[in-house]
Amino acid sequence: MKFENTLACALQLDKEDKLNHLRNSFLFPQHNGKDCIYFTGNSLGLQPKNTSGEIKQVLDSWAVLGVEGHFKGENPWMHFHDKLTKPLAKIVGCLAEEIVIMNALTVNLHLMMAGFYRPTKQRYKIICEAKAFPSDQYAFASQALLHNLKPEDVIVEVKPREGKHVLHTEDIISVIEQHAGETALVLFSGINYYSGQYFNIKTITEAAHKAGAYAGFDLAHAAGNVELNLHDWNVDFACWCTYKYLNSGPGAVSGTFIHERFARDKNFPRLAGWWGNNKLTRFKMEQNFDAIPTAEGWQLSTPPALLLAAHKAALDIFEEAGIENLHQKRKTLTAYLHFILNGINQKYNYRVIEIITLANEDERGCQVSMFMHKNGKAIFDALTNEGVIADWREPNVIRVAPVPLYNKYEDVWRFGNIIENILQ
Ligand SMILES: *Cc1c(COP(=O)(O)O)cnc(C)c1O
Repeated sequence: MKFENTLACALQLDKEDKLNHLRNSFLFPQHNGKDCIYFTGNSLGLQPKNTSGEIKQVLDSWAVLGVEGHFKGENPWMHFHDKLTKPLAKIVGCLAEEIVIMNALTVNLHLMMAGFYRPTKQRYKIICEAKAFPSDQYAFASQALLHNLKPEDVIVEVKPREGKHVLHTEDIISVIEQHAGETALVLFSGINYYSGQYFNIKTITEAAHKAGAYAGFDLAHAAGNVELNLHDWNVDFACWCTYKYLNSGPGAVSGTFIHERFARDKNFPRLAGWWGNNKLTRFKMEQNFDAIPTAEGWQLSTPPALLLAAHKAALDIFEEAGIENLHQKRKTLTAYLHFILNGINQKYNYRVIEIITLANEDERGCQVSMFMHKNGKAIFDALTNEGVIADWREPNVIRVAPVPLYNKYEDVWRFGNIIENILQ
């Protein structure tokens, strides 16, 4: 269907959308008695209606069964993990055995670096994107310090060209080649949180391996958002949070991918805990650590059943939707947003909104980052007053993410309409 900047067009697109009903599976913040236009699924995904039911089930098992809840009840806590890795494997494109669900994102980045970043005199550099998410920057710098190295010697940032907001893949490759002999680890985000740029994970991984380095990715903004094929792309490890596009609640449990090359290797160095030990002998409380020969061998602690329950509620909806369908809708929904915003720009003799996110659908996910050339903060505040929940980043970027699970074309059209009214 051809896009038009009309409510009728948006409503027709919603009518033709096979996933439109999924919206009813989520709870929306309200504004003047109506659903907000919720465009911050890139920061905290909405709550599935079923989350409280799933959590209550764990609470009920605990109440009725006490410690027996580990083995009995509807979803014995012992085996919760196994139910979640399969749906997750479809989302990030790997084997279920390559996933472990544990901890929080930054914690997992550190745990992965404990094994995958072991600097030597020769190889000690970490290559990452400039303006990586602050937590990642702190993680890299503190890893350097932990090894008695200077962060400024260790961290190599790939910067955008003059006046640009996004990176050219060939620039990333060329920096990796330039530092090939000294690089221990290439660690990029899958999607940069600020620009919304979806990096070419496959190409970056190949370049890292060619340079003799490991390739890891922080998929906070990519998991549940864009197509991923971690196994086939030969990525060494990846971590993500589940409270953004994966709708598993504030501070939700994180996920980690470890390629089977390493997951099967019981002797690959790691920081170990009892939950990563062979299940048959785990409760014999023996002295020597015997790693499970899957990604679970990296699990340290007793899994958080309450958090896994919230994660399950969200993953059930992904299963119902089908990840392919979600990708298809995401591309059209975001393309519609680009269309509406470009239309607004054409009505003015200066560029009102500079879309810094790339238009090419292979280089972006849901998110559109709008660099506002005039009155950015005032426009953002006016949006908030009109019931649009978006996200403000200094100095003048409004980030919006129409999410295929629960946003509709009408949201996108109304958003554009509200901006036009504000500008007038
Ligand atoms: C959201 C986000 C984080 C947050 O880390 P937590 O440990 O979950 O608080 C880290 N890195 C990136 C790239 C993010 O987008």
